[in-house]
Amino acid sequence: MAEAMKLTKDAYIARENQYVARLYKPLPVVLCRGEGVWLWDTDGNKYLDFLSAYSAVSFGHLNQRIKKALIDQLDRLDIPARAFHTDILGEYAEKVCRMTGLDMMQPMNSGAEAVETGIKAARRWGYDVKGIPDGKARIIVCKNNFHGRTTTIVGFSSDADYRRGFGPFDGGFDIIPHGDTAALEKAITPNTCAFLVEPIQGEGGILIPPKGYLKEVQAICKKHNVLLLLDEIQTGMGRTGRNFCFQHEIDKPDGIMLGKALGGGIYPVSAFVGRKDVMAVFDPGSHGSTFGGNPIAAALGIEALSILEEDRLSERSAEQGEYLLQKLGALNSPLIKDVRGKGLLVGMEIDPARATARDVCEKLLARGVLSKDTHETVVRFAPPLIIEKSDLDWAVDRVAEVLREME
Ligand SMILES: *Cc1c(COP(=O)(O)O)cnc(C)c1O
Repeated sequence: MAEAMKLTKDAYIARENQYVARLYKPLPVVLCRGEGVWLWDTDGNKYLDFLSAYSAVSFGHLNQRIKKALIDQLDRLDIPARAFHTDILGEYAEKVCRMTGLDMMQPMNSGAEAVETGIKAARRWGYDVKGIPDGKARIIVCKNNFHGRTTTIVGFSSDADYRRGFGPFDGGFDIIPHGDTAALEKAITPNTCAFLVEPIQGEGGILIPPKGYLKEVQAICKKHNVLLLLDEIQTGMGRTGRNFCFQHEIDKPDGIMLGKALGGGIYPVSAFVGRKDVMAVFDPGSHGSTFGGNPIAAALGIEALSILEEDRLSERSAEQGEYLLQKLGALNSPLIKDVRGKGLLVGMEIDPARATARDVCEKLLARGVLSKDTHETVVRFAPPLIIEKSDLDWAVDRVAEVLREME
């Protein structure tokens, strides 16, 4: 097997910076190995992964079951494309539908593609089913949203950095505050086909709406014949203490987007899943994806959902998340403005007058904990759902040390 030539840490970083477009500002660590909740760098240092690839690696790095599902599928069939039926796509889709309570799905690859699929479905449903005049359909979204990086999606971002220099944008979106049901009802017009929302805003800074929000949102959407589409790419798959975050409050929405952990953390697998009459607007030729729903993706999706169910990872996430929140809440540092979360999706808000979240993440890195800042003031903690209490204790001790050092 080809072994990459061993370089110094600085040389790895310099080479990456020279040849890879600078879209990210990675923390200064060069990783080369992972197992379970741990990652190792090229100098042999060990780190606890408190980010899980933005919730994609919920089952831990190189999870043995996920790895086996991939290898077993590679022994059978790779990618024949949707031009043909396969023996596994139906099984996968049936499982996704059973677990979400919805009727049909369109498999895609990245999260952004799942969101694009939902947007297309909602608009066509608006014209074909609701009877909105052609070209007039509008979708309501929230301030501080994050739904991906395609040109359509960044066109309705409220973050200037995501948009700058990428227009013109087509429009068709109305932005309201997250967590505000009165604003939703006010924004709805006869041309509104859907409300697209994250049950908890992850990239926005772990922003949790008031209790009862989704329930009320659903009632408003029903009343006005507007589709409720939930982006569960980050909050789904057990992350917030239920298989899907909406299950904390409602039976089911009209459509959801899944991604990240759906591929077991090792391969991009996403889906838009919806009610039958919403999915029925797609006819042959209207949408597609070369790799979407391929046997490898299907095998990984089936295994990821099976682990979620059989290992009761949602319950585990709820329990461990509560423990983590309580421990972080007890830290009592003047640097902490707020600690909030649901399940193992936790945000620690830093007082901007005292430090940036990036400073905290860099200092945590030096002590062996990998986390990521979001929106300057929030440190995101989203460890793999398989994490043990003793590892949470260890990490919180490191957080306490870092905060004490920075006071
Ligand atoms: C990560 C994420 C996306 C985008 O997923 P990609 O796979 O990066 O395209 C969309 N919505 C939410 C809520 C996300 O967290």
